[in-house]
Amino acid sequence: MSEHLTCEVLVVGSGPGGYVAAIRAGQLGLDTILVEDGKLGGTCLIRGCIPSKALIEAAEKYEQAITNAKGSSEIGLSADSPILDFKKTIAWKDGITEKLSSGVAGLLKAAGVRVVSGWAVFENAKTCLVGDDKITATNVILATGSKSVALKGLPFSKNGKGPVISSTEALDLSEVPKKLVVVGAGYIGMELGIAYRKLGAEVTFIEAAKTILPGFDKQLSAPVSKWLRDHDVDVQTNSFAQSVSAKGGTHTLTYTDKDGKDVKLSCHKVLVTVGRIPNTQGWGLENMAIDMVPENNGIFIKVDDKCRTAMRGVYAIGDLVGEPMLAHKASAQGEMVAEIIAGKKRSFQPAAIPAVCFTDPEIVSVGVTPAEAKDKGLAFTQGKFRWAANGRALTTGTAEGGGFVRILALKDTGRIIGIQAVGRHISELSGEFVLAIEMNATLQDIAGTIHAHPTLSEATMEAALSALGHPIHSV
Ligand code: FAD
Ligand code: NAD
Repeated sequence: MSEHLTCEVLVVGSGPGGYVAAIRAGQLGLDTILVEDGKLGGTCLIRGCIPSKALIEAAEKYEQAITNAKGSSEIGLSADSPILDFKKTIAWKDGITEKLSSGVAGLLKAAGVRVVSGWAVFENAKTCLVGDDKITATNVILATGSKSVALKGLPFSKNGKGPVISSTEALDLSEVPKKLVVVGAGYIGMELGIAYRKLGAEVTFIEAAKTILPGFDKQLSAPVSKWLRDHDVDVQTNSFAQSVSAKGGTHTLTYTDKDGKDVKLSCHKVLVTVGRIPNTQGWGLENMAIDMVPENNGIFIKVDDKCRTAMRGVYAIGDLVGEPMLAHKASAQGEMVAEIIAGKKRSFQPAAIPAVCFTDPEIVSVGVTPAEAKDKGLAFTQGKFRWAANGRALTTGTAEGGGFVRILALKDTGRIIGIQAVGRHISELSGEFVLAIEMNATLQDIAGTIHAHPTLSEATMEAALSALGHPIHSV
């Protein structure tokens, strides 16, 4: 029997934007309904951030075991040849996503949020249908997320069974492909391509831009390029994938190389990771009188600094509203919107949003880079500290991949405006970096904060000392 539900807050989508918004709304005593068509947790928990990091971790452990088996471990470890039971790896990864998804269900329940399973289709700005049921809300938070972009000549194979796959299928393969071509060497391509190389695949990258990771500056991506060279990964830049053909069980990818020549590559899987587009189709957005951002072909919903759309009482958050398409941005917006609806004075004006790429080595970028500071005409000073001079980095292997911490500050006040780093296992340092910028810290603040020894975090203090002109552990 169909029902007509009403609520103060209706959230559509349970990714890190939607579920956080719903929990916070519930905590604030707002009568809240969350509608989700898939599993609770959205892209991030189910087929994005978390499963990819699980695969990356498993790949790292496997590579270490192989190194030990080859007897080439510098530490002096040796072991028998490891056996990879990839089905078990995938089952372990699924176990983690299941745990997190049921954790989200528990948190929603504790906050008093009603969860409705199904696909929401809006009749008008405040009313949607989910199957036979109708939901009418005073406030609506749209958090429908994004999906992988497909390339014209390389449509994704149905059910992931064919050669061309997206990140979703790449996180659910039954075996490691012998030869993997990755089209697009951005965040997803690099993270997964490196993981599959460690798991034993032969990997080729086809990247349209002139460098890998074009979103990061060259000093930051250089250690990743070195890793790829050292691990026999083929990287074709200024190149475009065109089509895939199948013959007798193997597949052939045709791409146009940097000289404009068509080149053929045999492969088992082609992973297309050329960006993501917001989910704006198939749920009645056109019935809601909402404006879109004119740039980028109008794919993003237009919101102000409170995530309000053009329709009163309708908010949009996360991947749906533009770059950066990152989980922590979506969550921050979700929490903020719930508080705004509850009557609190909030706006979305972060001093910085950290970007972390889980490659080998990892890259962290917070605030402005030297090139961006120059473009903005800022008078700045910078300091750099290399992992090779950090004791903990030498013991953890962070120093092996090369890399550094770099800190930028305004010349007149010493206020920190950017911190970037590249190094193995350094993603956890992003917290200190972004805190420094958000709290308006100066070089003196970081240099004068006693950092525990021996830790990787001492490199941030040393980079600040270097920017001040008196580093202790470098010249
Ligand atoms: P989503 O997480 O996309 O959730 C949207 C939800 O809405 C989905 O569950 C969908 O089923 C549901 N939905 C859509 N329409 C409807 C409807 N009409 N009715 C009902 N339900 C609907 N970001 C990071 O910050 N760090 C990372 O390490 C990272 N790694 C990633 C790795 C991969 C492989 C991918 C693909 C992405 C990664 N991201 C990462 C990006 C991150 O996943 C997204 O930025 C984040 O999930 C966006 O959150 P969201 O809440 O906007 O939407
Ligand atoms: P991306 O924008 O990071 O990279 C896409 C790459 O594909 C770019 O290098 C681009 O030059 C290239 N490209 C575009 N068209 C091409 C073509 N026709 N042929 C060859 N190359 C082409 O996109 P993504 O890797 O798909 O990731 C999508 C988003 O997901 C990211 O922007 C990021 O916001 C998010 N994400 C974040 C993380 C993280 O935080 N660690 C990890 C994964 C994904």
